Amino acid sequence: MQTPCYHSRTEVIARRDGVDYVRCVDCGQVFEAEDLEPVPVRDDDAEES
Ligand SMILES: [Zn+2]
Repeated sequence: MQTPCYHSRTEVIARRDGVDYVRCVDCGQVFEAEDLEPVPVRDDDAEES
């Protein structure tokens, strides 16, 4: 297995409904800043809401 990334370095990429979304500088994974849970990266332009 690969060495696990601890996501110790993140940058804020977006904010929606009071939730900050951050991206790990090291591995590129996107998280909600509060939870640090991985969230699926989707193309918002393709959504119909
Ligand atoms: Zn990471």
